[in-house]
Amino acid sequence: MMDKLYRDLVDLPGAPSFEKPIRDYMREFLTPHVDEIIEDKLGSIFGVINKGSKGPKVMIAGHMDEVGAIVTGINKVGLIQISNLGGVKGEVYLSQHFDIICDDLGKIPGVTASKPPHLTRGSTEVPPQLKFTDLLIDIGADSKEHAIELGVKIGQQVISRNDYTVSKDGKKIFSKAWDNRFGCGMSLEIARDTKKDDLQCELFVGATVQEEVGLRGAQTAAHLVKPDVFIAIDCSPCADSFEGDEISGKIGNGFLLRFLDPSAIMHQGMKKFIIETAEKNDIKYQYYQSKGGTDAARVQLSQSGVLVATIGMPARYIHSTTSMISVDDYAEVKKIVYAIIRMFNEETLEEIKRNV
Ligand SMILES: [Zn+2]
Repeated sequence: MMDKLYRDLVDLPGAPSFEKPIRDYMREFLTPHVDEIIEDKLGSIFGVINKGSKGPKVMIAGHMDEVGAIVTGINKVGLIQISNLGGVKGEVYLSQHFDIICDDLGKIPGVTASKPPHLTRGSTEVPPQLKFTDLLIDIGADSKEHAIELGVKIGQQVISRNDYTVSKDGKKIFSKAWDNRFGCGMSLEIARDTKKDDLQCELFVGATVQEEVGLRGAQTAAHLVKPDVFIAIDCSPCADSFEGDEISGKIGNGFLLRFLDPSAIMHQGMKKFIIETAEKNDIKYQYYQSKGGTDAARVQLSQSGVLVATIGMPARYIHSTTSMISVDDYAEVKKIVYAIIRMFNEETLEEIKRNV
């Protein structure tokens, strides 16, 4: 079973730039387990373990933000206009439950308005493709003034209402925000379970902000930490429920070894190191190619280059209002990450570099 902290994390609201509740949760969890907490000015947060070690600097991160939306206006009948934050299509937001999140984290519930067939019957017009900006959220307000009275303001984040659900066989979990509270949770577990004596490196473990709007937090966090090695832990979309091929991911088949995406080719030395470690320890993995990038793409280009890898958690239906992961894959991701952290020292780093 997965640790309870994952449920806490996925239930929190945190669209890009609104990560404060997740950061506060992570800070509180990390504090008793690390030598120091560091944060950059955009809000990325890391705990440092084995601070001051002469070994390499190893940085491990999830990202705190989830795809969502932001209030851009209120029309005269009291419906709320929104824009997307991150890559999400309008069609997956139609006829869904949402919360508009107030400054004090109070929630204003609403539903996205859709025209019932009774109102369109008889019309020969072909409906145009739904644009995100055509979506309206109905909070039950009677007018614009009423919506304002109920607490709606321009610039508030809009998050899908979560309905965390375990599948009948107990092996899959449906929730919003697996992308990427999963990575945040794994960072917290690592911090809790890794002691100074386990390490021959200086370990920075935490999470970035604003990944979903262009890997922004990764850039500033890399500048803060100046790592030699960076491992992104992130949920990646699987096509297995749509007849995917052997490199498009299958949930339940182990962690995703992201050897290729449009913004990063996995460092060949890192690939060899991770595959050898997985095989030696009987950890299940699958080759994976993605059409999107992760924080690893941005961190690899910082300083004079960083040895990066993305350890992928297979997930279905991300970048919608929900998603699905397998607890079996959780176990494999945890095993590989725990194994490699304990192996990083000067010699392994030199060997990885030689294998480029
Ligand atoms: Zn992600």
